[in-house]
Amino acid sequence: MRPIERGVNLKLFKEYGDARDDLINQLGAYCSYCEMRIPTPAVEHIQPKSLPNGLELAWDNFLLACNSCNSVKKDKNIDDNNLNNYFWADSDNPFRAFYYEQNRAPQISTSLTDFQQQIAKNTLELTGIDREPLHPKLSKKDRRWKERNEAWDDALSVKEDFKSNSSEEMKNTIIRLAKAKGFWSVWMTVFADDINMRYLLIQEFKGTSQACFDASMQPIHRAGGQI
Ligand SMILES: [Zn+2]
Repeated sequence: MRPIERGVNLKLFKEYGDARDDLINQLGAYCSYCEMRIPTPAVEHIQPKSLPNGLELAWDNFLLACNSCNSVKKDKNIDDNNLNNYFWADSDNPFRAFYYEQNRAPQISTSLTDFQQQIAKNTLELTGIDREPLHPKLSKKDRRWKERNEAWDDALSVKEDFKSNSSEEMKNTIIRLAKAKGFWSVWMTVFADDINMRYLLIQEFKGTSQACFDASMQPIHRAGGQI
């Protein structure tokens, strides 16, 4: 899961849907949970818009979500009391919480403490980003796993091309493809051994939290976050 910076936005939105363009400008048109690229992502409320405390229109309560993540998370009651039971793209570095492998749902990093592993598990359950064939709750409409696998195949394929042609032009082509496909974590994983490509992925995917990475482009603890 990509760590993101939503930034400051002082606009007063009349409806939460009015924030969508600003969110896309800031974060790119990607689901904040599964990282799928979606032309028209929904404005997602971290805490439900029904809570009676102005959160319906609060910029800091917004993320972007695909239909699948949105509908899995829909009924969960997130409030100030249980917010820290989950990792969040805008306040943690959730790239440290999960690892990615070909044809496999995101897995919980084994280097986490038991406490952090529980939070990671809660986060998977909250969003269903680990749903794949054989998962008992996978719905027919849920294409997240398929799109993620396709992004992985594309990333592997261009990495192979990159071995014989590591020109600037080729780097740009790879970044363009990554942005078109989405699943930033997949690209970061496939190009894990290439600091320069990781740097470009962090720079070029709008709104990625650069402070979540060290000079070697390894993920680090997010200041103020749980991970
Ligand atoms: Zn999603």
